[in-house]
Formats: sequence, structure tokens, C-alpha cells
Amino acid sequence: MMLNYAEPVYRPPSEAKSLIFQVTLGCSFNQCSFCDMYRNKEYSEKTWDEVKAEIDLMAKQLPDTTRIFLADGDALNISADYMVQIVEYIYKSFPKLERVSCYAMPMNLLKKKPEELKKMHEAGLKMLYLGIESGSDIILKKITKGATAETIIKSCRKAIETGFTLSCIIILGLGGKTYSEEHIKETARVVNASSPHYLGTLTLILETGVKQEFLTKFGEEFHPISDEEALIELHNLVEQIDVKEKMLFRANHGSNAYNIAGTFPDEKNAMLEKISWLKEHPENVRPEGFRAF
Ligand code: SF4
Repeated sequence: MMLNYAEPVYRPPSEAKSLIFQVTLGCSFNQCSFCDMYRNKEYSEKTWDEVKAEIDLMAKQLPDTTRIFLADGDALNISADYMVQIVEYIYKSFPKLERVSCYAMPMNLLKKKPEELKKMHEAGLKMLYLGIESGSDIILKKITKGATAETIIKSCRKAIETGFTLSCIIILGLGGKTYSEEHIKETARVVNASSPHYLGTLTLILETGVKQEFLTKFGEEFHPISDEEALIELHNLVEQIDVKEKMLFRANHGSNAYNIAGTFPDEKNAMLEKISWLKEHPENVRPEGFRAF
């Protein structure tokens, strides 16, 4: 018998081989205008009996599991004590486990005390995935992210200072043509101040379920960027990123028109060269039919 997931289940691409436990369902915020992941789910937290039964079941079936991802979109919203109870039990149940990770919102990182975050990290919750989306306050307001550039920076720094490995996402094209320059300039500023361990890009694709809401909340005409402009945003972002600590960068998600990857700061110039090469070789674009957000 396998787990009975409440579909849909989302996880970061790098957790593709992880065992997933849904300790929460949905997203307690559920208002970002570009995101249709949990629109059909009401946020709830599973009881200890439910979580324990699922861990016990999978510990018998997949005892050699090395990575576990706690879903859905907002597992860090549960209390620190409950998270510690879950994570400690997971490590007891899977002797080869190397890491447990989950998504984190700026606001649920800021709500937790540093001691609580440290306790969760010491229990073995090692990695957090956080959506910066944009560093521009204008755009963050238009997409109803429920965060500002400053709260994002504070939450990222808090996660890193309490021991977590932090992986962040930004979304190319989120300000359309009108705010393209503002989006990239402010996003690079937030990335530089946050200095996460990993940074990935998506490129905005408006899914049917949220398209109208996104356009309405945007509050003015939205002009999507072209593939060429996405490459310019990528170039300008890479050019303006200036981190001292090592940061792995990936723009290879299936929503992106072009793929690049490298490590800041050492491979910044190589990445810029690759982008310049891609500008001369647009035939390397990912066909639209093969893209998904
Ligand atoms: S982007 Fe994250 S925080 Fe925003 S609605 Fe979607 S799951 Fe919730």
C-alpha cells in the first residue's frame, strides 16, 4: 500500500527523488496572483496520528529513503514543536535519511523566533525553498505576494543565520515589459542582500485558472515579455548579481525559454558569455509546447 496523496502534490525539481509527506494541505496564504497550485485546497494541518501512520507505513516500504520533502506549500506554518516532533520521528524511522526539507514563506520565517528555527534545524529540517519571485515592491504589491523586498531579505537572512540551506526562486517576466528593468534591478538587489545558497529562475506562464485574477490585480495593462526579452532579463540579472558567498544558479526549469546554469561568483562571466552566445543562437530556445510553469 502506498500513501494516499491529496492531489495535486508539488515539490521543487531538486526534490524529484524525495519521499513526500503531506504534513499540511494547501497554502495558508494562497493569494499570490500568479500561483494556481493550491486554489482547490483549503489549508489544513494533519494530526500527529495521521502523520505518524504515514511515516510508519513508508518506513516499512522504503526504509532506505535518504531525502524527505514535507508538503504542501506551507509546512513551515506548523508550530516549531510540532515540526520538531515530526522531523525527529522521521529520522528515527528512516536510518539512512540525509535531509528533510520544505517550502517556506517569508512571513512564516519571520513569525518564528530564531530559537524555534534553530530547534527545527537541529532536529534535521535542513533545507528551505523560498519564493522571492521579485525584489520590486511595485511588483510584489501587484502580485499580492504578502511580502516586501525588506521582509524577504530579513526572512532569507534569518533562515541562513539559523543554519538552514536556502534555495530561492525568482520569476522572469513577472513585471511584464513595463517593469522589466525595475524587476531585474530590484531582484538582483534582494538576491545580493539575501545571498541564498541556491537561486533558480522560472519564467512567468499564466495558467488559465489564475490568468484573469493576475491581470486584474496587476492594475494596468500587462504586456508579457518575449523570449528575447526573457534572455535580456536573464543577462541583466546575472550581470547585476554580486554575491560573495558561493551560490548555485539554475535557469533550467521547464518554464524558461533558455537554459543556463553555473555557480556565483566564479562562473559569472562564463554564464554571461553563454547568454551572449544564446542571443546569437535563438534556435536553442525551448519550444513553447514544451514549457510548463
Ligand atoms: S506562491 Fe507560495 S505562498 Fe504564494 S500562493 Fe502559491 S504556494 Fe502560497
